[in-house]
Amino acid sequence: MIIAVDGPAGGGKSTVAKILAKKLGFLYIDTGAMYRALTRKALDQRVAIGDETAMTALAQKTAIELIPNPDGPITVLLDGKDVSLAIREPAVTQHVSDVAKIKGVRQVMLILQRKLGAEHDCIMDGRDIGTTVFPQAQKKFFIDATFDERVNRRFKDLINLNIKGVSREEVAADLKNRDTIDSTRECAPLRKAEDAVYIDTTTLSIDQVVETMLRTIR
Ligand code: C5P
Repeated sequence: MIIAVDGPAGGGKSTVAKILAKKLGFLYIDTGAMYRALTRKALDQRVAIGDETAMTALAQKTAIELIPNPDGPITVLLDGKDVSLAIREPAVTQHVSDVAKIKGVRQVMLILQRKLGAEHDCIMDGRDIGTTVFPQAQKKFFIDATFDERVNRRFKDLINLNIKGVSREEVAADLKNRDTIDSTRECAPLRKAEDAVYIDTTTLSIDQVVETMLRTIR
């Protein structure tokens, strides 16, 4: 079974998807981490992100693995190396949407994501899971919140990750930029699938969102 959880950054989808995965015994797959890992590699190897051919070739020769941890965040392996923290750095966040808009890159990720979905019961979180990766997913959610609330949450995330030196204004500018690129790109833009359940999490607690989702699933 596949449960698709899509929505913009900061809506709360990864938090609730992780909890749901644990409750249901499903594998949690953070597809954003895959795009982030490739972005990390492009920055480290100084591959020009605007060069679509080079970026597609890089994606084709990159191994990305997501290792679940029972009580913590997933471990992300990039060519065998743990990059779980390095993919959350501001430089990666700043460039990831430009990487994710490249069609050739998305094709590589799509194959990887469909393979994982075929092998496991999973909850997959991203931007295009319900519309493109698994349009036949048994359950689909679109998790959203107001822009201000999403900025607050992302700002708190950075503090929790001990990433310093990024102001709230910078977080807001980054979210706005990513929202625009993600929702206007030609290939698999961020969009609610017609049959997805829309949840506005702005005033809801994590437990309330999880409960709503569980009720829908059952
Ligand atoms: O979920 P997260 O904010 O970590 O995702 C980082 C970026 O990866 C998004 O802003 C988006 O550009 C890209 N992404 C995507 N499709 C997905 C998941 C993430 O384009 N399914």
